[in-house]
Amino acid sequence: MNSNSLKLINIGNLLTYNSKKNFMVSERGLEIIVIDGKIIEIGKNLNNADQIYDCENNLVTPGFVDCHTHPVFFNDRSNEFEMRVAGNTYEQIAANGGGINNSVNSLRDSDYNELKQRVIRRMNDFLKFGTTTLEAKSGYGLDLESELKSLAILDEVNSEQIIDIIPTFMGAHAVPKEYNDKPDDYVDHLCKVIIPAVAKQGIAKYNDVFCEKGYFDIHQSEKIFLTGLDYGLLPRIHTDEFENIGGAELASAMKCVSADHLMCVNDSDIMKMVDANVKAVLLPGTTFFLGQHKYAPYKKLKDSGLEVAIATDYNPGSCNIQSMTFIITLSLIYMGFDINDAIFSSTYMPSKILNIHETTGSIEEGKNADIIVWDLKKPIDIPYNFSKNSIKTVIKSGKILF
Ligand SMILES: [Zn+2]
Repeated sequence: MNSNSLKLINIGNLLTYNSKKNFMVSERGLEIIVIDGKIIEIGKNLNNADQIYDCENNLVTPGFVDCHTHPVFFNDRSNEFEMRVAGNTYEQIAANGGGINNSVNSLRDSDYNELKQRVIRRMNDFLKFGTTTLEAKSGYGLDLESELKSLAILDEVNSEQIIDIIPTFMGAHAVPKEYNDKPDDYVDHLCKVIIPAVAKQGIAKYNDVFCEKGYFDIHQSEKIFLTGLDYGLLPRIHTDEFENIGGAELASAMKCVSADHLMCVNDSDIMKMVDANVKAVLLPGTTFFLGQHKYAPYKKLKDSGLEVAIATDYNPGSCNIQSMTFIITLSLIYMGFDINDAIFSSTYMPSKILNIHETTGSIEEGKNADIIVWDLKKPIDIPYNFSKNSIKTVIKSGKILF
């Protein structure tokens, strides 16, 4: 018996991707042995362990992997939410000094430790919703010092807290106000000064660009991607959210790890993405939270052969949503997912996009013990009960958090 061993008994229904069978499997009556944070054995009538956890015949799934979030901000933007529900659009609010630049002002002025504490609180909320791993972007600093500060906080929180964070640099989130009339100068500054410094800092893995009308055009985005690649930062893109300006085509040409949003993607761009093996990350929470109605064409993307993940896009402006359960619910109601696809797209598929699928994203022998025990019996009960947090227990790296 190992002092770090844990045994889960009476699992009512274990739903997980199985990488040997290559699809989602659902099995009843299993037990799981965890030693030193890893899943050692899955089966029936297994040996005893130091600690026993009774799942009481409930549903068990992998912890969620949220592959698209913006959690490093200082103040919320509930005042803008109030303006939006009073009839102003997101673009109008941004044009009047709100939007991303509003968050930039407060982050630049923020105390390092206070900002870090706020990020930690948000990470604890993610864990309560069953998210055990997430990708997190900088992008509310938009100058050298504040972007490095945002990434340093993500790195510290990742090493000091139990949640796993994969950091992304997003200096191309918006043009900061001091470059309002000269966006090309900001792109130059990004490429000559900030990206080299981010690479030297060594924390960020990805280089994400908001390629959209009013943010960064195709030529600017391409330049930022190519510079990032020179420094070993892999490209990801936000595009086709409000208009199609050719971002998905650029994503294919740049072989982006993923193209995210895609509400306005067209058929020829979809085929280019398939050919270039660009994966899609759909963010229905943003469409919902902005009060819009055009969700990304999931079925068309899937039928074309694209691999698709779903994520929260958690941020203080366009999507104040941290719950993957709610994102799954939106995916079923508005995008045509079935529940098994939605669980796959919020566990294994995002792990594949983040290239951590050898260790994370499914409940299989040898993998990290990142596990949700639900207070529910069937997978469809997850979205059906979305208005309450139906998570009974979250286990992260073999540790029972609650
Ligand atoms: Zn985003």
